[in-house]
Amino acid sequence: MANPASTAPGSTAHKEPQGTQSEFTRADGWLTRTDMLSRSIYWGIHAASLLVFVVGAPLEAVLLCVATYSIRVFGITGVYHRYFSHKGYKTSRVFQFVLAFIGTMATQKGPLWWASTHRRHHRYSDQEGDPHSPVRDGFWYAHQGWIFDDKWGGTNMEGIRDYAKYPELVWLNQNHMVGPITLAVICYLVAGFPGLVWGYALSTTLLWHATYSINSLAHKFGTRRYETKDDSRNNWFLALITFGEGWHNNHHYYMASARNGFRWWEYDFTYYILRALAAVGLVWDLREPPRSVVYPTQEEDLPKAA
Ligand SMILES: [Zn+2]
Ligand SMILES: [Zn+2]
Repeated sequence: MANPASTAPGSTAHKEPQGTQSEFTRADGWLTRTDMLSRSIYWGIHAASLLVFVVGAPLEAVLLCVATYSIRVFGITGVYHRYFSHKGYKTSRVFQFVLAFIGTMATQKGPLWWASTHRRHHRYSDQEGDPHSPVRDGFWYAHQGWIFDDKWGGTNMEGIRDYAKYPELVWLNQNHMVGPITLAVICYLVAGFPGLVWGYALSTTLLWHATYSINSLAHKFGTRRYETKDDSRNNWFLALITFGEGWHNNHHYYMASARNGFRWWEYDFTYYILRALAAVGLVWDLREPPRSVVYPTQEEDLPKAA
């Protein structure tokens, strides 16, 4: 496999100012300031998901789990990641807020915190300053420990100035628990207590570990098409459960793209959803990787004509 370059062409998409801890603010709400409460909620939701063994498996509750998992995987991958972190496509200001609200329902704090932290991950990937590197800090910390580390608790507004100029997003970033609470209430109204257990608790636990595995496992296990400066990998299983994010080596090489599955067989459900939204005019200008990136060695890697 070719090693087309040692630098990522998409990496110039964002110029995050040199971030220091002093630049981090507390503009991301009360929950972040109460670390023990955050931990209690996190592990409490894990424990609550075990109630599936008590409430059984009513069909509407199981279907609700599938729906809330799918919508919120997209909320992280298609919204927090490919839109707010990397500007992989464009949308209107109104739909931007709708998307951001869907993102908050994933219970991974606010869009400005998430995206500014993620941009930092790309800036310092697997180096000093990366919030979550399994290479440097081990699996547990990279998977979920860093979330409770006060070092990364605040939102680096300087790193997300392009979206911090919208007051409604700053509000949502500060009040990010409105989304999860709204979703929990909807689950209860739709399918009662089993709906709450399946549609929120179990779904959220699965969602957390699927998306967090990109930070941990996708920097350890899988193949590398591109010689990036980090240890990112392409992993087909992670791509399946995270709707395309498992093509993480592709992503680290060309992060500005709206699609992470570069080849036709690299399934990327997030991208398919974005294409559907584009077809009805809700989003537009989806950014694609250039052919020279997708097929770096040209002739020998091009698909054979039938
Ligand atoms: Zn990464
Ligand atoms: Zn990224």
